[in-house]
Amino acid sequence: MIEFKGVSKIYNNEIKAVDNVDLEIQDGEFVCFIGTSGSGKTTALRLINRMHEPTYGEITMNGEKIKMMDPVNLRRKIGYAIQQTGLLPHLTIYENVVTVPRLLEWSEEKCRETAERLMERVDLPLELLERYPSELSGGQQQRIGVIRALAANPGTVLMDEPFGALDPITRDALHELVIELQEEYNNTFVFVTHDMDEALKLGDRIAIWHEGKVVQYDTPENILAEPANDYVRDFVGRERLFDAKTSNITVKEVMNSNVLTISLGKSVSDALTTMHSKGVDTLFVVDDYDKLMGRVTIEYIANIKNKSRNITEIMDDSIRPLRESTLIQNQLQQVLKTGRSNIPVVDSEGRLTGIITKTTLVNLVYDIIWNQEEIEEEILVEGTSE
Ligand code: ADP
Ligand code: MG
Repeated sequence: MIEFKGVSKIYNNEIKAVDNVDLEIQDGEFVCFIGTSGSGKTTALRLINRMHEPTYGEITMNGEKIKMMDPVNLRRKIGYAIQQTGLLPHLTIYENVVTVPRLLEWSEEKCRETAERLMERVDLPLELLERYPSELSGGQQQRIGVIRALAANPGTVLMDEPFGALDPITRDALHELVIELQEEYNNTFVFVTHDMDEALKLGDRIAIWHEGKVVQYDTPENILAEPANDYVRDFVGRERLFDAKTSNITVKEVMNSNVLTISLGKSVSDALTTMHSKGVDTLFVVDDYDKLMGRVTIEYIANIKNKSRNITEIMDDSIRPLRESTLIQNQLQQVLKTGRSNIPVVDSEGRLTGIITKTTLVNLVYDIIWNQEEIEEEILVEGTSE
């Protein structure tokens, strides 16, 4: 087991790259670190193999303080792979793969046998062993990076966005490979990614990093079902929203049809009264036929001195509604970019029929991933076994 106890890494007395983190990783577990850029993932990973030392706190491996271990020895027990592969250009692929086994003074025979077995394992022809890294494709180099990390059969493998630069098909293939290898060798994996799909696919547990802290550490299921806070919700949601699985869903299917309106011709003071009584900060302005004409927001109308003015004069009429029939997928990025939490929806006649909120979108994504039937089935099974 790897354990972080109150671990901080502070740069230049001010940047808390890792901020008082407690974390435990069980033997044989596949843990993904995910988070935005700069959230501390790489630093945390490098604390494990002592490429960095904590400013405060302690990391233990099977109860032993790693700062008491010889760093070179420690690193020989820990495989490490990064996106830039770190393959040494002047060494052959074979020499690259067996770097650590050679440090461990394995016999040449055992080195050769290991390299060949691993090459077969990742579907690469043995003759590549005699080539140099620059003669291989990006995907092939990445495979070599992976098998090099595994060559000495280390108990722990650290990978830092190893597949970030690869095309989706190659990446998928390498996911399968990593999963198989981990099942076969039962190593403990700590895998850094910024791709939620990757984390969901690979991780037994996912640690979500934000500003040097782990804001949630749980199974993929629990993170999706119960994000610990808005940051996680947003992070998970945003990533998932771009997923192709949303392809067939129309705006109409997910919109909330309970939308608050105010009629053309009402006054600013009418709008304020409605907002107060309903507890909302936005009203959509409609004509007698429910046609969407504009929007009024509290920030804007609160500053208007003459409360008897007609909202028609002061409303924002530049809004761009979504059409009911639009596919969510085509609009998602747009919706998120506007930063507005409420987007009105209109039918083909331009009548206001609903609203899309950020919450709607996030819920939608959960429904897609955790299709309701499956969840209900699980609950049923749990219920009967009690
Ligand atoms: P991530 O891998 O999640 O993108 P990092 O661990 O690389 O994040 O960085 C975390 C924070 O620490 C960032 O603010 C980064 O700028 C800072 N940082 C990382 N390495 C150094 C360093 N050697 N010196 C100063 N600041 C650093
Ligand atoms: Mg990083």
